[in-house]
Amino acid sequence: MFAFVFRTFSVGYAALPKNGMQDLSNQLKSKLRETSIRYNAQVVSLKQNGEITLANGSTIYAKKVILACDPSGLMPQLDQNLSYQKTTTIFFKGSDTLKRMKGLIGLDARAESTINNYARHDEVQPSTAPKGFSLWSVTARRYEEDETAVAKDLASLIGCSPRDFTHLKSYHIGKALPVIESPVFDLPPEQTQMTSNIYLAGDYLVNASIDGALRSGYRAAEAVTETLDLV
Ligand SMILES: Cc1cc2nc3c(=O)[nH]c(=O)nc-3n(C[C@H](O)[C@H](O)[C@H](O)COP(=O)(O)OP(=O)(O)OC[C@H]3O[C@@H](n4cnc5c(N)ncnc54)[C@H](O)[C@@H]3O)c2cc1C
Repeated sequence: MFAFVFRTFSVGYAALPKNGMQDLSNQLKSKLRETSIRYNAQVVSLKQNGEITLANGSTIYAKKVILACDPSGLMPQLDQNLSYQKTTTIFFKGSDTLKRMKGLIGLDARAESTINNYARHDEVQPSTAPKGFSLWSVTARRYEEDETAVAKDLASLIGCSPRDFTHLKSYHIGKALPVIESPVFDLPPEQTQMTSNIYLAGDYLVNASIDGALRSGYRAAEAVTETLDLV
């Protein structure tokens, strides 16, 4: 898996959808013709027969359910005791004259640094910064990392002064990535099926990435399609 991830990063360039990562979901949604979506609808219970209860008290009966999150809260019998990597992602703005990254994500190998990886977004997607400015993001090694220390480390990496960066926002992400003991690239559709009504999807089933999340969702959808007439 390590070889796969590093090969992928080395043969391709960093990419960002023009309107941000939300565009991935929007593009998938735009292809749906007969689907209704409920936002901010927390599921508080899921029964084995596909009965779903939402936090607002309403109930949905579904012939097939794809559970696309850590199932421990809704199906305790499937609790895998997942633990999560935590991180802080910090955004800075600077002048557009700062160092160019040639579309690559930088990895910081210095033993004492606060930085895991860093990227210059406006170079990959110009719409992310106004004219004359650059937009930088840093994924820190520690949860609740301090932006002053990170700005100092970033400045020494790219050869400028910490004062060249203005802190925009920090996101502390408690459940950044699931810790997966034996990540895999793919899984057979039938492995996503838990009961005759319930299927699983999510990065934790394969490997912690967008590719893993999409691939597992695709496999769950295949399993649903293959078994639709059997209920
Ligand atoms: C800082 C950071 C940078 C990353 N960078 C990359 C990258 O460059 N490339 C890459 O491939 N991957 C990256 N990843 C990983 C990638 O974002 C994840 O692997 C992927 O988003 C996981 O998708 P998912 O659908 O499995 O889970 P999630 O995106 O976590 O989706 C699960 C959803 O279920 C919802 N949910 C949970 N419980 C309930 C409930 N009871 N009722 C209703 N809804 C519920 C949650 O709110 C959530 O929206 C990054 C992750 C982080 C944190």
